[in-house]
This record gives sequence, structure tokens and C-alpha cells, in this order.
Amino acid sequence: MTVLASGSKGNSTVIASSKTRVLVDAGLSCRELLKRMAAAGEDPEKLDAILITHEHVDHVAGLAVLARRLKIPVFFTESTHRAWIRMLTPRTTMTYAKWLEHLQKEKEARAAAAASDSGAVEDSALNEVGSIAAGAAVDDPMGEESGEVEVEPAVKKKADPTYLPAVEYFHSGAHFSIGDIEIMPFTIPHDAADPCGFVFEAAGIRMAMATDLGYMPANVKAALKNIDVMLLESNHDLEMLRDGPYPWSVKQRVLSRVGHLSNDATAAFLSDDYDGKASWIVLGHLSESNNAPELARLAAEQALGGRPSLLGNRVVLAAQEAPIDSILM
Ligand SMILES: [Zn+2]
Ligand SMILES: [Zn+2]
Repeated sequence: MTVLASGSKGNSTVIASSKTRVLVDAGLSCRELLKRMAAAGEDPEKLDAILITHEHVDHVAGLAVLARRLKIPVFFTESTHRAWIRMLTPRTTMTYAKWLEHLQKEKEARAAAAASDSGAVEDSALNEVGSIAAGAAVDDPMGEESGEVEVEPAVKKKADPTYLPAVEYFHSGAHFSIGDIEIMPFTIPHDAADPCGFVFEAAGIRMAMATDLGYMPANVKAALKNIDVMLLESNHDLEMLRDGPYPWSVKQRVLSRVGHLSNDATAAFLSDDYDGKASWIVLGHLSESNNAPELARLAAEQALGGRPSLLGNRVVLAAQEAPIDSILM
């Protein structure tokens, strides 16, 4: 497991067996992801696929550009793929006043066009307005002749921000594999369309990722059994969040059952539910505004320290600004 970036400003992790390499999330720009892979000694050309946990921008920012550049498939759930497309599709919003104005203009254009067609209006200035309006209303046949229309679809396709070389769907709770890595996606409680965590297994080694979840439901606790390397969210310190800079509405969102795990919530999992099997526990998705790495580490180590048999578990912190050393098993 090589965590290239982890935190509210971007997430991306390489999970690799001896034969297969998968990038989980692409939440930095393509350029930055390539830079980090180089820094971590990962060859992007050797990636077999990109796997997406959910459509929040800190997980998909560089997705389309990277997938196109490397020409590799993207694995989503269908709902996440749709949500991602919607997110990237520009929508025009209109105020009620603007809409009324728009209706009025259309009405005037129709009237002018009708007047121009019937030839009843002799006034040349009005006729001119009429023909412009009619030209705009109907697909301009001259435009096709001029070649403008021919160029447009190609430009549009190239510029389509949702274009991906290949898309594969998976379903939470259903195993699938990429190369020799067996993957079990599981549902996590988070305010996205269909967010997932993953358990990866190859050559008898099991790694898991569970970040971006509001609390630890039974299905996540069950998925995190017999894991050798576990990337767990430790997003915020409750007091720092409470006294921190976020507006109240955002604080509510983070704290909610579909927000993010606090240091305390992660510690509670480690002391009460964790089976103690991991060699490595990686704390990730730390908030820059509402957490301090040492607070996250302290909470986790105290939780493990309460169970002396778990002191052999190594706790490392994933970072936002740079990749951390690969964890090899
Ligand atoms: Zn998220
Ligand atoms: Zn996130």
C-alpha cells in the first residue's frame, strides 16, 4: 500500500500485488498524481485500473485526465459513475425573472418570424429582425455548408469532461477481481451517491481502506476482520472542529452520521471492536483545519495501548502533502 495523498484536499492510494496495480481514488490533479507516483517509485504505466470510492472532488479531481492519459479502465458503482457525470455536466440555472424575460424574448422572436414569413410587414428593419430570429430558431442550413457544424461534434467529444476510455461497474457487497487482486467493496455511511470502502486480497495478504464515513456500522466492523494493513479515517478532533473555522452547517455535516470519523470514534473502534490482526494501521483523511497529526496518533495509540497485546501494531499517519513510504507485506 502506497498512500500518495490523504486528507480533505485530495486522496489517492496505490494497492499492488506482484502482478497487479490499482490506484484507489484520483483526488489530485493528474500532474500532481504523476509527480507523487514518481516520488514514491510507482510507474504510472504499470497501473491496471483506477478504482473510485465515491464522487467527492477530493477523490476524483484528476480522474478523467489520468484515465485518458494512461488509457486504463475506471471501476465505479453505477450510482457513483452517474453522480460523477452529473457533477461534471454544466447546468444553467435561471432566476424566475430571467425565465420570464426568456419567455418574452421567445414570444417576440416567434411573432417576428411569423410576420416575416407572411410577408405582411413591409418595414425592412422589422424584416431583418424577423429573419435573424427565424435563423436562430431553426438550425441554420448555411451553417452546415460553412463547415462549422462538422467541426463542432469532434471538438465537443474531445472536450467532454466525462469521457473515459473504459468503465466497469461493481456492486457493494459483491466480490470482483482486477488481475490477481480480489476486491470486496462494502458500503460506508457518507453523504455521497453510493460510497464504498474496500478489502483487497492477494497472495493471502489482506489490506483494507475505510475513510469518509460518519460512523462505524456493523457491516464495516465485520469487513475489517483479519486485515494485515488497514487504512482508517481519523478525520477530526472533536474540540478542534467545534472551536475551528468551519461554518456551523459544515461542522454539522462533518459530525453527522454521513460525515467523517473523529479521532475518538476511530479510537473507540480500535479499543472495542478491532480484532488486533493488523501489522500496520494507517490513519488517514486527517482534516488540516480540525485535526493535528499528533492528536490522531495519540488517540489511536492510547486505544491500542489499553490492549497490551496490540502494542506490536504499528501506527503510521498518511499525509496530505506528500506520499508516505510504501507499506510492504
Ligand atoms: Zn467524501
Ligand atoms: Zn474525502
